[in-house]
Amino acid sequence: MSYIDGYDIVIGLEIHAELKTKTKVFCSCKNEFGAQPNTNTCPVCTGMPGALPILNKRAVELAIKAGLSFGCDISRYSVFERKNYFYPDLSKAYQISQLVYPLCVGGKVELDSGKTIRLNRIHLEEDAGKLTHISKAVGTLVDYNRGGTPLIEMVTEPDFSSAEEVVEFLKKVRENLVFENIANCYMEEGGMRCDVNLSLKKKGTSELGIRTEMKNLNSFKSVQRAIEYEAKRQAEVLSGGGVVIQETRKWNDDKGKSTSMRTKEQAQDYRYFPDPDILALNISDEDIERVKDEMVMLPAKRREVYQEEYGLPLYDAQILTSSKYISDYFEKCVSLLNLPKKISNWIMVDLLKLIKEQEDILFPISEKALTDIIKMVEDKLINKTVGIKLMEKTIESGEEPLKLAKEMNLLVTISDEQIIELLKKLKGENEKVASDYKVEPARVEGFIVGYVMKNTGGKANAGKVKELIKSVFDN
Ligand code: ADP
Ligand code: MG
Ligand code: ZN
Repeated sequence: MSYIDGYDIVIGLEIHAELKTKTKVFCSCKNEFGAQPNTNTCPVCTGMPGALPILNKRAVELAIKAGLSFGCDISRYSVFERKNYFYPDLSKAYQISQLVYPLCVGGKVELDSGKTIRLNRIHLEEDAGKLTHISKAVGTLVDYNRGGTPLIEMVTEPDFSSAEEVVEFLKKVRENLVFENIANCYMEEGGMRCDVNLSLKKKGTSELGIRTEMKNLNSFKSVQRAIEYEAKRQAEVLSGGGVVIQETRKWNDDKGKSTSMRTKEQAQDYRYFPDPDILALNISDEDIERVKDEMVMLPAKRREVYQEEYGLPLYDAQILTSSKYISDYFEKCVSLLNLPKKISNWIMVDLLKLIKEQEDILFPISEKALTDIIKMVEDKLINKTVGIKLMEKTIESGEEPLKLAKEMNLLVTISDEQIIELLKKLKGENEKVASDYKVEPARVEGFIVGYVMKNTGGKANAGKVKELIKSVFDN
């Protein structure tokens, strides 16, 4: 980026993701998006005097799972603390979070370039409610449904040096969380959002500069734009001889710029202290093992297997791991028919084409039916064009492909197995043919081929039959 000549960008992220639990993290209110405002609330999540929080075990498990998926150490001892501040979206006037003893420590994410982004921690906390500013005259509306939704906060070390790295990282984080069924990460619903801490340092120096923080970016595009804008702004300040003010800034996506929200001097003292209503959390080996048992193979690992063991190109591996569903589907197919590249082609070219519009992909044909069709094509029972037709017909009717193929008279030849079966039948029924074959094969060959043709309605391949006669009649 030429506009920041002479400086290196330094970025660290704080990422929030809402966990996929049925209920909130400290009460039994539903954790759902889009309900009527303020219907999923109770004395606990609205912080009524005397109400007591009870920790949701599932939220802890999902946070541990997130930690394991990024290679964090899972703390055997962690503590929930109150982060005190007043704001209308937080009716308790404190958020329950973790500070000194977070649930997960360390961890990392590897970028395609081989560069490692270190995680500092992942901790468990609760979300606040949602404010909607209508206008000066009408005022602001508040919805406490989101208050108390379980969140993980992931904090990275300041290891990023470009917007591109940040976006790649966020995509990889989202991929893991979605694959492991930890979070939906619907960014437009605020299911995953990110604070960007950014500073510049003179090229070649190691000392970090003063940073600013941009809060709650919730699309890859706005992350990218906000970073570019802020890097440029800081470069202008610095090269004009000024100093960057440590502050929190608000990104305005419509205007394409950020403005100061509050400086370090105005920063609040949250007066963190251990929440006396919640016991410290002790995690056992069994707890961790239980979570490990429900973990799946992560996409990066799957891409490795697809390339190294199945010999697929990176391109195929990437498309096939674009969702857990597609990836699982592909793997099931390969377990039924060991032709990974053929299956990959069918899925990528023929199957995905059929459902281009759908957001949440569910293939309308079972793995068994698809591989049956692919096998028919590979066995040259039908050609590829007919195979695609057969696939469409299978989807339409829900019938088994082989049955359909027979009904529709699509099979141009008979499978090897069917020929062998007929040959064995003939050998068993007709001793004379069997013994004649031993003496002078050529003399009875025509008869045998004729028999198979008669019994297959002429659909066997004569050359193939001749090939197979030996295997049956020679022993
Ligand atoms: P705080 O508690 O004030 O939020 P942290 O030390 O926890 O501060 O850091 C928050 C985030 O800011 C982390 O992601 C970290 O990597 C990042 N960060 C810290 N110092 C810098 C810096 N000089 N430039 C860019 N990012 C930074
Ligand atoms: Mg911070
Ligand atoms: Zn509640």
